[in-house]
Amino acid sequence: MLQYNLQLVAEIMRARFLQQAAGNNFVEHLLIDSRRVIHPPAALFFAIATVRRDGHDFIKEAYNKGVRSFTVEKEIDVQQFPEASFLLVDDTLKALQQLAAYHRRQFSIPVIGITGSNGKTIVKEWLYQLLNEQYSIARSPKSYNSQVGVPLSVWQLQPQHTLAIFEAGISQKNEMNALQEIIQPTIGILTNIGEAHAEGFADAAEKLREKQQLFSSAETVICSTEKLEPLSFLHANIYNWGFSANNALVVKAINRQLSETTIVFSTNTITDNITIPFVDDASIENAVTCLAVCMYLQVSFERIKEKFQQLRPVSLRLELKSGIHNTTIINDSYSADLSSLTIALNMLQQQGQHLQRTVIISDFQLTPEQETATYRSIAELLLQHKVQRLLTVGPRTKALLVPLLNSSINSISFDTTPALAQQIENISFQNETILLKGARVFELDSIAQLLEQKTHQTVLEINLSAITRNIRAHQQLLKPSTKIMAMVKAFSYGSGSYEIANLLQFMKADYLAVAFTDEGVALRKAGISLPIMVMNPEPVTFDALIDYNLEPELFSFSILHAFESFLEKEGINSYPVHIKIDTGMHRLGFMPSELEELVAVLNRQQTFSIQSVFSHLAASEDPAEDAFTLQQAMLFEDACSYLENALGYPFLKHLDNSNGTIRHRQLQFDMVRLGIGMYGISSAAAKLQLEEALTLKTTIAQIKQLQPGDTVGYNRRGVITKPSVIATVRIGYADGYPRNLSNGVGYMLVHGQKAPVIGTVCMDMTMLDITDLVDVKEGDEVIVFGPQLSVTTVAKQSGTIAYEVMTGINQRVKRIYYEE
Ligand SMILES: *Cc1c(COP(=O)(O)O)cnc(C)c1O
Repeated sequence: MLQYNLQLVAEIMRARFLQQAAGNNFVEHLLIDSRRVIHPPAALFFAIATVRRDGHDFIKEAYNKGVRSFTVEKEIDVQQFPEASFLLVDDTLKALQQLAAYHRRQFSIPVIGITGSNGKTIVKEWLYQLLNEQYSIARSPKSYNSQVGVPLSVWQLQPQHTLAIFEAGISQKNEMNALQEIIQPTIGILTNIGEAHAEGFADAAEKLREKQQLFSSAETVICSTEKLEPLSFLHANIYNWGFSANNALVVKAINRQLSETTIVFSTNTITDNITIPFVDDASIENAVTCLAVCMYLQVSFERIKEKFQQLRPVSLRLELKSGIHNTTIINDSYSADLSSLTIALNMLQQQGQHLQRTVIISDFQLTPEQETATYRSIAELLLQHKVQRLLTVGPRTKALLVPLLNSSINSISFDTTPALAQQIENISFQNETILLKGARVFELDSIAQLLEQKTHQTVLEINLSAITRNIRAHQQLLKPSTKIMAMVKAFSYGSGSYEIANLLQFMKADYLAVAFTDEGVALRKAGISLPIMVMNPEPVTFDALIDYNLEPELFSFSILHAFESFLEKEGINSYPVHIKIDTGMHRLGFMPSELEELVAVLNRQQTFSIQSVFSHLAASEDPAEDAFTLQQAMLFEDACSYLENALGYPFLKHLDNSNGTIRHRQLQFDMVRLGIGMYGISSAAAKLQLEEALTLKTTIAQIKQLQPGDTVGYNRRGVITKPSVIATVRIGYADGYPRNLSNGVGYMLVHGQKAPVIGTVCMDMTMLDITDLVDVKEGDEVIVFGPQLSVTTVAKQSGTIAYEVMTGINQRVKRIYYEE
């Protein structure tokens, strides 16, 4: 690690010593946050004042943690801190930046600087994923791209690095110059320029001009052709990509399949293609940008082609879960590199609830040249973050990392993940935070699963494989050409949102439908690209509707006119919409008598393009109402032919819901709308071999023995008449367990045995009579509903329908998704 003498630091920052203490006169780490002190003897603290906080107020805290070097911009009472050195500057932020810029100048490797409105972090992380075998890469942690984040990122540059990738973001005028001086990129990347953060600038052009400052001394700027023109003033060589033949990288074709996209391209040396596991425009643009960088760097395409297929979405969220024996688990078992290790260790350090810290780490996948330096850095990080115990998996960590640790870290090595799994019961884990960190191939996730507390909470488990099979079962009833619209309203009937939508997208559903615009927006933000119909588009949400490419259901003249004038105002034509006809449900929809007027309205404008016309059956599941269902179908058919004739173009027609699909196959038209059937609920469930996909589970918090005369719960409703055993379980009406199942109306299953509810259901707890049950103990799992105790049964006992019970499960109940 590079060290700077404090005297030199003072010269670089043109600082004056307010006090110079003996000893402690070198700097390795820069600190701006007194809560994140690592390796204090070699740290230099910068007291930076922001609108909300003044770093000078935290000098004492940092001093108490052992920091002995400070940069300040105010005269302070140094006598309070006799062992520390103080450097006084005019502006601590500027000083930090000057020091980082000096540090940067010590390196003559390619340095990539990325700016743009969107995609900076993704491009940076993907370049890392693509190139980390060819280069030893320094990069910004997370999205450190600000006036403070950039100097801290650049400070990470160390002699072993052969490539650096930093992002730069600005929110005000004149900020980019400072960032340029710190990053000094030799290669610039301009990603998508959107409208994000336009405030702070006179206009978009000014912002773009400001952004280009980053490239003022770059040798080359990589960007798409569309961004060429505004860059034309630059001296830099431009490496551009685009569709036309005069680009350095020509995109010849973009072929989107269901869940992946193949991009055919050529350069002056090769013609080939990449496939990426994404289908959205932004991912395609980001991937091509990365490809252009690889081509420019002349890395062997053979070595990276496969890697495009393995690009992972960039998620910077680390999840904490509670583990066995009062432990906390941080599962970061999908990536292995120094920068993500630093982030994870910071989180480990932040978790103050346990003093004991254990790290489980696998070999990182490194080239022989990278190994020595990287393991040395890992050892340093582990020591700095006060890790007490280390479990390693794989031969390289055993050989190269463990010997570097001193006696303050207790370490045990395992050759393979299964070897560790086998021993896990014999290793004591208690009252500690455990970080799992490893390369994907080591599958440390399996260890996380052993450590995670599973039975503690009330959870709704969703069997994604069962949903897949249920959809297939419905599909088999349909003509091959009949499309499927999956109804994912109300958090997919309580089961989640984008998790289910992702599965449906993967399964080739043709359409999704949600009740409200915000549900559709959430799906788009989660990367769902399927067409989405919004059944209840409120006018205040029209903006979002269009921004997120959602298709409204128009069911009345008032909503139609409101949307029409909105589109006119926006100058939008042929926007995809769906027309709902009321054929007897009498909820939403144009009445058959309104169709003539509807046609008149539709024919005098080009604002809409009708994608589909549909209606909803009122009693598709009820044989006693089949005549009514057929009458609805006739009205629907009449309406469709009338509209088709009058409009002069075809559209999709759909009527059947889940039960309709099963019971009225002749009414499938062009598409069916599946809802509850996907979850395995249907009167024909057995015939179709549908499987219930949801299981609501809880656990026993306490067991007690009661005697005749005792009572259980509020208002003493549970009366004990014989010696009894009562179990209190962790679910109540606030979770969505209906209160009218009190006093023996409902029951749950404990190890497959029926345990009736005794007393009234409480807000967060329910008491069960387990007197006649065998082998029950505290902590045991209890099934509230699931394949063994149908949600339909529970709903019947509660006097309602499965739909209400499913959608009534509170969001505080954790959803767990699994595939078999
Ligand atoms: C919810 C809904 C469906 C799906 O109904 P299921 O009975 O769950 O299959 C279909 N169409 C419309 C208009 C709906 O609102």
